[in-house]
Amino acid sequence: MKAGVLALQGDFREHAEMFSQAGATPVLVRTTEELAGVDCLAIPGGESTAIAKLAVSRGLVEPIRKRAVDGLPIFGTCAGMILMAREVEGGESLLCLLDIRVERNAYGRQMDSFEADLDVRGVGPVRGVFIRAPRVASVGRDIDVLAEFDGQPVVVQQGNLVAAAFHPEIAGDPRLHERLLHLAS
Ligand code: GLN
Repeated sequence: MKAGVLALQGDFREHAEMFSQAGATPVLVRTTEELAGVDCLAIPGGESTAIAKLAVSRGLVEPIRKRAVDGLPIFGTCAGMILMAREVEGGESLLCLLDIRVERNAYGRQMDSFEADLDVRGVGPVRGVFIRAPRVASVGRDIDVLAEFDGQPVVVQQGNLVAAAFHPEIAGDPRLHERLLHLAS
C-alpha cells in the first residue's frame, strides 16, 4: 500500500514514519503526479497558512479535492485538520472537505501546548499531544466524533476523511494511521 504524505511544510517525516510502522510504503507528495499514485494521504501538522500557500502554488488543491471526493482516505492532524475544514473562523478554508468549523490556535491562548489522555472510538486510549491546536467549534450532521477533550471534538471522521486536533505522529502512535490504511484497503 502506498501511503502518501503531503510534504510541503510541517512534520511530514513523522507521518511517513508512522505509515512505515503501520506496514505501508510512505510516499512524499509534492506534485500532482505523486498524488495520483497514492492509496491514501496524510496532511501533516505545521503551519496551515504556509502549507496552503504551497499547495495553491503547486496546483494541488483541486486534485486533492477531487481524489477526496472519489473516496481517497485522508488523515489530517492539527494544521491538516484546519486545511480540511469547511470553515475556519477569521480565516480562509483551503480544501473545504470536512463539515466542521475550526478556530485556529484556540487552546494556545491558555497554554501553547499540552498533553491529555483521550479515548478514541475504534482505537482505544491515546495520548494526545496538542501544539497550538485548533478547536472544533461546530460539526455538521455527517460528522462522526471519535474523541472529545473538555467536551469538544478532537478526532472527527466523515466517511473516508479523518482529522485530529493533536499529533499522534509526534507521540509515535501509529494506530490512527493503521486505521486509515484499513479505510484504504
Ligand atoms: N497553529 C497551527 C496553524 O494554525 C497548527 C499547529 C500545528 O499543526 N501543530 O496552522
